Amino acid sequence: MLETESLRKVYKNKVAVDEVNIYLKEGESVGLLGPNGAGKSTLISMIATLLKPSSGKVFWEGQDIIKNPHIIRPTLGMVPQEIALYKELSAYENVKFFGKIYRLKGKHLESRVQEVLEIVGLKDRQKELVKNYSGGMQRRINIAVALLHEPDIIIMDEPTVGIDPQSRHYILEMVKRLNEEKGMTVLYTSHYMEEVEKLCDRIYIMDNGKIIATGTKDELVSILSSEETIDLVLEESSSAFEDALRAGEHVLKVTETEKGLKLIVPKQSNQLTTIFHLAEKHQAAIQSVSIHVPSLEDVFLHLTGRKLRD
Ligand code: ADP
Repeated sequence: MLETESLRKVYKNKVAVDEVNIYLKEGESVGLLGPNGAGKSTLISMIATLLKPSSGKVFWEGQDIIKNPHIIRPTLGMVPQEIALYKELSAYENVKFFGKIYRLKGKHLESRVQEVLEIVGLKDRQKELVKNYSGGMQRRINIAVALLHEPDIIIMDEPTVGIDPQSRHYILEMVKRLNEEKGMTVLYTSHYMEEVEKLCDRIYIMDNGKIIATGTKDELVSILSSEETIDLVLEESSSAFEDALRAGEHVLKVTETEKGLKLIVPKQSNQLTTIFHLAEKHQAAIQSVSIHVPSLEDVFLHLTGRKLRD
């Protein structure tokens, strides 16, 4: 349905998107996961024909949409990160205004306005001014606007950043429903691993402008199938202990966490004795140890050496 070919965007001397090839099949829900600055917004802005690539192509149903943006525009809904609404108007007036921009008219316009307000769960509060809405409710109106013209594909740029947990939950459930019940194709960007895990059939992990891994959640986690993660809670941090672990031949990765260290080690390598021995030698007090199978966050850490929210 949608495909990018060696898509690239350079700002002055910064390569924001570097030779990216991604695709979406009809009805799929695809996640674009990456930390801030990874290039997610730049990539989806090019796909949505809002930004011209430096090089590369984007195809919609086999047609080049960089040359012919009008092919995709009527069928694409884009939810930007910023709230693009008139705060002095009511939610109803906002949605209706944007509906007119989409050239919807009369009864059809009115029924679409009511349908999208219903989808985002704000039909009952449509008369209130947007300025009196919470950030999460404003986001939901932003989404309502993107759904007005019944797009086949919706692209969402981190729609849950900085909003209350209730609205966040609502948005996630709503996106899931749009995909599963209405068959809408979704491209969802986020730096929250658990969101893409919950919502998406397939995930692209992006870092420094590049796609560094792709697959279903299970496929991505299987990158680390021969490893396991050990979380150590320490009484206080100890660089000598950390260095000793790093020097050890069986510890693949050592990262500092809020309360101690996270280690990636080969599965069933019985590292605990060595770890306790090193802790004692370097006078590091271990408060607790937990061993678990890797998560997507661990995969990201493994691939980049950094955490998603660094
Ligand atoms: P993300 O959406 O993953 O946070 P962005 O696409 O916003 O990432 O940014 C990718 C990189 O491009 C960042 O280093 C950012 O600073 C840079 N960037 C984004 N927009 C511009 C711009 N208009 N001019 C210059 N640099 C930009």
